[in-house]
Amino acid sequence: MIYRDSDHLKRSMRSFTAFLVENSQIMRDGKFICDACRGSGSVVPDHIQADPVEGHKLSPRTACSACSGTGNWSERQWRVYFKEFRHRYRAAEQATNASKLLVKKALSKLTDDEKAALGLEDRA
Ligand SMILES: [Zn+2]
Repeated sequence: MIYRDSDHLKRSMRSFTAFLVENSQIMRDGKFICDACRGSGSVVPDHIQADPVEGHKLSPRTACSACSGTGNWSERQWRVYFKEFRHRYRAAEQATNASKLLVKKALSKLTDDEKAALGLEDRA
């Protein structure tokens, strides 16, 4: 999935419907495409290195294990993927907020002179 900005990501995380609206590229011809192979049904194995000039254009490909080579996922698979992704996003968001709160709490204990000595007067 490609997110244009953080607002786009926040909107997408609201619900599965919002996620579908924001990420219309996961559907093609009314079907959900596989996220691992982008709907092609084949992938380049991990041990194959890209050619410095041609990239993976001429690399051998194998059937995608995530979709068994069909290139499609069911809506249920995307819902499970979305649920796991949202869970990881929320956990990361909470960890970031906790970290920011800790920094803010620590900075509140410093005097203005101490903040200036540390070069933090702009951020406080
Ligand atoms: Zn696939």
